[in-house]
Amino acid sequence: MGIPIKIHITFLLILPIFALVFATNPQPYGFADIGSSAVTYGLSLLTTIMLFACVLLHELGHSYIAKSYGIEIRDITLMLLGGVSSMEEIPREPSQELKMAFAGPLVSLIIGIVLIGLNIAVSSFVPTYSSTWIYLMVNILGSINIILGLFNLIPAFPMDGGRILRSFFAQRTSYIQATHYAATVGKMFAFLMALLGVVSNLWLLLIAFFVYMGASEEDKSTTVTVSLERYKIADIMSEEVISVPPEMTIEELSHFMFENKHLGYPVMEGNSLKGIVTFTDIRNVLPHERYAALVSDVMTQDVVTLSSDATAAEAFKVMTTNNIGRILVMDNGNVAGILSRTDLMRSLMLLTE
Ligand code: ZN
Repeated sequence: MGIPIKIHITFLLILPIFALVFATNPQPYGFADIGSSAVTYGLSLLTTIMLFACVLLHELGHSYIAKSYGIEIRDITLMLLGGVSSMEEIPREPSQELKMAFAGPLVSLIIGIVLIGLNIAVSSFVPTYSSTWIYLMVNILGSINIILGLFNLIPAFPMDGGRILRSFFAQRTSYIQATHYAATVGKMFAFLMALLGVVSNLWLLLIAFFVYMGASEEDKSTTVTVSLERYKIADIMSEEVISVPPEMTIEELSHFMFENKHLGYPVMEGNSLKGIVTFTDIRNVLPHERYAALVSDVMTQDVVTLSSDATAAEAFKVMTTNNIGRILVMDNGNVAGILSRTDLMRSLMLLTE
């Protein structure tokens, strides 16, 4: 499907842990009593790799549906807690999100049912089959896939089941409200999982932590994005742009900043933009160099710009991904305004109230 598949460093941690679990568990969920230790560990490792291939198929299930709705998948990453598909956006159409969220668990359930079914069928024809390592491996993979499918359907947003729940709410209320309800349910489940985790399984505790963080994070970011999508940069930017010349010294700039109270300025020579200089840039200048160093020495030349008809949500995304505090607004090569993170947050506060 043209999707890059990546492996996160934490995945290397999980591989031996799972292999060890399979190697120390007795039949029918492990290979501890199957033969020599080389055979036991070999089969355990092979089963672990096959298991993560199944996790990958689960993710590809989500991706396949997403692609059919025209959503770009940046990549799929295998990591500590399984797989993560990072996509450009999540469909706002509830029926699309429903199908996309359900596709993953469906793949896991189908794999599980087919494998278990296969084992039952073959062992009814070949009586000795159920004492072979193939039977054992297929049994382990089948069972885990069924558990994986069912577990992901728990309505703990942002897990798959939680996304299904959001699409259910979104048919009845606004997308922001629906996300908020789903996130609240998700946090409740995270709390339950954590309680269960403390008394039974530390793994569950870890998942609970990620579910809780994920729910809060996505609840917040959805409110921000949806609210900001309704506005253009032109609506909220400052049109009055205070700029500084490249030959200004750092000493002069620090006084200038103190008087004008902005922490970043475009650097202009006549009408042409040379760069942008911020408080962070001057902080790196040593005290005795402040009179000699010029703005042009410390400024960032690669300026991130957007046009005034881009949405405020795009501005927010660009600021967050580049970790910058302000964006210069350029229309047809001319500076039209400036939008700082503070402006954006102030507008957002007014919009959400
Ligand atoms: Zn999934």
